[in-house]
Amino acid sequence: MPKNKIQFQRGLSLQRFQQLYGTSAQCQEVLLKKRWPSGFVCPQCNHTLYYKLATRPLYQCQRCRCQTSLTSGTIFDSSKLPLTIWFLAIYLISQSKDGLSSLNLARILGVSANAGLRLKHKLQQVMKNEDDRLQLSGIVQVDDAYWGGKKHDGKRGRGASGKTPFLAAVSTNCKGHPIHMRLSRVRSFTSAEVSRWSAKHLQTSTLVVSDGLHCFSGIAQSGFLHETIITGGGYESMQIKVFSWVNTMLGNVKKSIHGTYHSVSRKHLPRYLAEFCFRFNRRFNLGFMVGALVKASAHSKPIPQHKLKLAEIWW
Ligand SMILES: [Zn+2]
Repeated sequence: MPKNKIQFQRGLSLQRFQQLYGTSAQCQEVLLKKRWPSGFVCPQCNHTLYYKLATRPLYQCQRCRCQTSLTSGTIFDSSKLPLTIWFLAIYLISQSKDGLSSLNLARILGVSANAGLRLKHKLQQVMKNEDDRLQLSGIVQVDDAYWGGKKHDGKRGRGASGKTPFLAAVSTNCKGHPIHMRLSRVRSFTSAEVSRWSAKHLQTSTLVVSDGLHCFSGIAQSGFLHETIITGGGYESMQIKVFSWVNTMLGNVKKSIHGTYHSVSRKHLPRYLAEFCFRFNRRFNLGFMVGALVKASAHSKPIPQHKLKLAEIWW
């Protein structure tokens, strides 16, 4: 059997990571290039000329006098953790196939459990923001899916209580191979919700294939091509080739999240799903993922503590 090229790619070794991002100066240099690739841009007035303050690590705009640091206005804003710890967290999260629990991350980084949790959720949110910009295209398989809930309430699947509904979508190329994946928590499976989801996450001229559950009429309502393949549901539908990838992905994500995390709250589920998708969607180039996540972090706005903990997150 030929080797799976994606599975056996070299990625970025810890030694190489240390050579590239091991010191504070290196992290600052990388962040500077990712945040302002063409040089400093004032966050207030977009002016490009600045002074560097001699006494503090701040940039002062020559036009509006606004002072800004390298990290202010980014996900790293107001963090007490040094950039080297952030970069190491980015490395560990992006290079592991199934992710790392916040407690595990905290142990490896030598930070408190709370700091590990904040770091983890902030980076997950960055991954979600970044992936939300990527619209699915080509042929997209969609299916309704559920997370958690009571195991023994006598109901199964679509009628089960306490379960968190989410939409699973996988785009495939002309050979039927999976390209990108999106897993989105939805309020309910209604055509209005699916219609809004389609408008946000699909490129024009995408062909969507579903099992014809009523809510998927929302896809055509948003102007997308929609093909229905009626299945008997359950095991039978999993054997049908057009749904094979979406079912395989659902199995993988559930196994991965269950295997890594003790519990995942309903409102934070989208961040865990997004973390899985972020890695999957960039699986062809593991080594590139650290730079991609640093860049996305540099362009993500700070998340206040109350929003990090309490906000309900949807698709
Ligand atoms: Zn300015």
